[in-house]
Amino acid sequence: MSTRLVIFDFDGTLTDIVAEGRQFEAAYTRAVRELFGAVRLPAWRQALASVVAEAPELGWDMGSGATAPGDADPYITATLALARFARAERLPILGSEEPAHEAVRSALGGALYHAAYAEITPTFRPEARRVIEEVAGRVPHVRIVTNSSTAKVTEKLAHLSLSVQVQVDGDARKFEVSEPSSNLSAMAGVPVWWRLPSLQRPILPRRGRYFDVLSRVWSETGTTPAETLVVGDIVELDLVLPALLGAAVHYVERPRGHAYEAEVLAELGSRGGTSPTLEGVLERLD
Ligand SMILES: [Mg+2]
Repeated sequence: MSTRLVIFDFDGTLTDIVAEGRQFEAAYTRAVRELFGAVRLPAWRQALASVVAEAPELGWDMGSGATAPGDADPYITATLALARFARAERLPILGSEEPAHEAVRSALGGALYHAAYAEITPTFRPEARRVIEEVAGRVPHVRIVTNSSTAKVTEKLAHLSLSVQVQVDGDARKFEVSEPSSNLSAMAGVPVWWRLPSLQRPILPRRGRYFDVLSRVWSETGTTPAETLVVGDIVELDLVLPALLGAAVHYVERPRGHAYEAEVLAELGSRGGTSPTLEGVLERLD
C-alpha cells in the first residue's frame, strides 16, 4: 500500500539534538547554579551522569510508568536528574518523597524546562528542510506530532522557511500510558506490555493521548495507519504505538541509541526502518 501520510516527530527528529541539547543543558545548569548555588554544581553534574549511566533501564516516568529511556534527550535527562539532585542534596521540600512535595518539584522541573527550552536557538538537521519539502511533494499529507507545544514548534518551524505548509499537532503526551478517549476498539491489538530480551523493564505501548492525536490526524486526512509512515528519534516514545496500530515507522538515529531499540525495529520487519539522517525517509517512500 502506498504512503499517503507522513508524520514527523519534532525535537531530535527534525532538530539537531546535539547542538540544541548543548544550549539547553548550559541554560538549565545556569538556572540550577542561580537557584541552589555554585557549590552544588558537582552534585548536579553527578545527577546528570547517573541518569545517563542507568538508562535505558532507568526510564522517563511522568506518573504512568516508564515510557522512554532516561537519556533519550537532554530534556528528559535534566528532568530526571533534577529529582535525583534534590534528593541527594536533601533540598527542603524539593528533596522530599511526599506526594505533595513531589508536585512542587515537578512544577519547578516544568518551569526550568520551559525557561531553558526558550533559550535555544533553533537548530535543524541540515537536511530537514529539503526532506520535508520533498516528502510534501510526494505524499498528500505531512504532519508534525510532538509533545512540545503547538505554538512553540510552529514558531521554531518558521526558522526553517519551508515552501510548504505543515500542520503541527502539539501536546501529544506520548509519555502518558492511558486508555484512549474514544475509538477504543482500534487499540484492541495493542498489548499492555511488550517485553524484549535486552530490556529488563517492559515497554508500555498503550499511550492513550498519543492515540487520540493519531486518530484525529487519520480522520482529518482521510488516511489509515497502513497508509502512514511515522518518523521519530525515540523508538519507544514515537514509534512503538503507531507500529502496533499498523503504520510503517522510521527511526532517525540519535547519538546514543540502545540495543533494545534495534530489537523493536527488527521485530517489526519491513514496517520498521532506520537511517542516520532524514534522507532515509525518502527511500521509504520509493
Ligand atoms: Mg524527539
